[in-house]
Amino acid sequence: MKIQIDRGRCTGIGMCEAISPDYFEVDDDGVLQLIAGEEVPETAVDEVNEAIRACPKAALSWSAS
Ligand code: SF4
Repeated sequence: MKIQIDRGRCTGIGMCEAISPDYFEVDDDGVLQLIAGEEVPETAVDEVNEAIRACPKAALSWSAS
C-alpha cells in the first residue's frame, strides 16, 4: 500500500512522525518527508494507518493505486 500526502492540508504538526517515526519525518523547514518512501510493507500497515488516522488535518491517506 502507498501513503499519499495532501500537501495543501499538511501543516507540519508532526503527529504522524510521533506515531510512526520510521515513515514520517518533518524536516527543518517544516515539510513532511516520507523517509522510507511511499510504499508500506504489510508488516507496517497497522502502524502507518494509525498515523494516518491521527493527523489532525486529514492530510494523509492511502493511495488508490
Ligand atoms: S500529522 Fe498531518 S499535518 Fe501533521 S505533519 Fe503529519 S501529515 Fe502533516
